[in-house]
Amino acid sequence: MTAQIIDGNAVAAKVRDGYKARVERLLRQGITPGLAVVMVGDNPASEVYVGNKVRACRKVGLRSEAFRFRADAPQEAVLERIAALNADASIHGVIVQLPLPPGYDMRRLLEAIDRNKDVDGFHLYNVGGLVIGETVFPPCTPYGVQILLEHVGIPTEGQNVVVVGASNIVGKPMALMLLQKEATVAICHVKTRDLAQFTILADILVVAAGKPDLITAPMVKRGAVVIDVGINRLPDGRLVGDVDFEAVKERASWITPVPGGVGPMTVTMLLGNTISAAERAASPRL
Ligand code: NAP
Repeated sequence: MTAQIIDGNAVAAKVRDGYKARVERLLRQGITPGLAVVMVGDNPASEVYVGNKVRACRKVGLRSEAFRFRADAPQEAVLERIAALNADASIHGVIVQLPLPPGYDMRRLLEAIDRNKDVDGFHLYNVGGLVIGETVFPPCTPYGVQILLEHVGIPTEGQNVVVVGASNIVGKPMALMLLQKEATVAICHVKTRDLAQFTILADILVVAAGKPDLITAPMVKRGAVVIDVGINRLPDGRLVGDVDFEAVKERASWITPVPGGVGPMTVTMLLGNTISAAERAASPRL
C-alpha cells in the first residue's frame, strides 16, 4: 500500500477561499479584521513565522501589525502594549509569538490578552473551553489538523487516535479536540515506555514531538492515517518532520508531508480565528 498524500497547501488554499465571503461581509459593515503580533527578541524562526502571518493576513484582506520588542525590554512595557491592543477596537486578535526570551513570564503575558482577542487560544479561559468542548478559539495547529482530516473525509468517531507529544500548544489540545470528536485517544510523551506498543494501535497517528525519524514504519499500523506535525531542520539544511516519510508512506493509507502538510494550515486557522473574533465583536451575541 502506498499512502495518499494530504496536500496541506491545497486544503489551506480552499479554506482561505472560504474566508473571502466572511471578510467581504465584515468590510461592508466598515470592519477590517485586525491582527496584532507581539514579538520579543530576534529569534530567526519566529521572524519567519511572523513574516508569514503578516503576509497571509494581507492576502485575505486582513490588517495586521507586528509589535517588536528587544530581548531585554522590560516585561511591563510588553504588558502595556498588550493592554493598549486590548483597548483598540480596530484590533480583533492579539497574539504573543512564542518562544519568549528567558526572563519573561509567558503565562502572565498570555493571561494579559483579552480573552475575546485570544486568537491563538492559549489564554486559560480558552484552554478551559477546550476541556469542556465549548471552544471559542481553538489553538491553530491542532485545529488545522482537525480540518485536514475533515477535508479528506477521514472520520474520527470511534477511531483509535494516538498523539505523540503532550505540549500545551499541540499535543494536549489535539487530544482534547479529537476526544470531543468521539475518538478514543492516547497521549504519549518522553516518559512513555515502549512508544511503538501505542503507535501500532493507532488508526490515526498524530506526531508532534520535534524528533526527526521518531516514527519508523514498523511502528505504524497498516492503513493508518499519519499526521506529522513536527518541523525539524537537519544539519544539511533540509526540513523534515518526525516521521520517516519514505518508509511510512508504504504502510499508511494517508500521510502528511513536511513541508506542505500541517504547516500551511496553522497560519490559515489563525486567519480564521481572527475573522471569527471580528465577527464576534460586530455581533456580541455570537
Ligand atoms: P514541545 O513543546 O517541545 O513538545 C514536544 C512534546 O513531544 C513533549 O510533550 C515531549 O514530551 C514529547 N516528546 C519529545 N521527545 C519524545 C519522544 N522521543 N517520544 C515521545 N514523546 C516525545 O514541542 P511543540 O511545540 O509541541 O512542537 C512539536 C513539534 O511540532 C516541533 O517540531 C515543532 O516545530 C512542530 N510544530 C509545528 C507546527 C506547524 O505548524 N506544523 C506548529 C507548532 C509546532 P515531554 O512532555 O515528556 O517532554
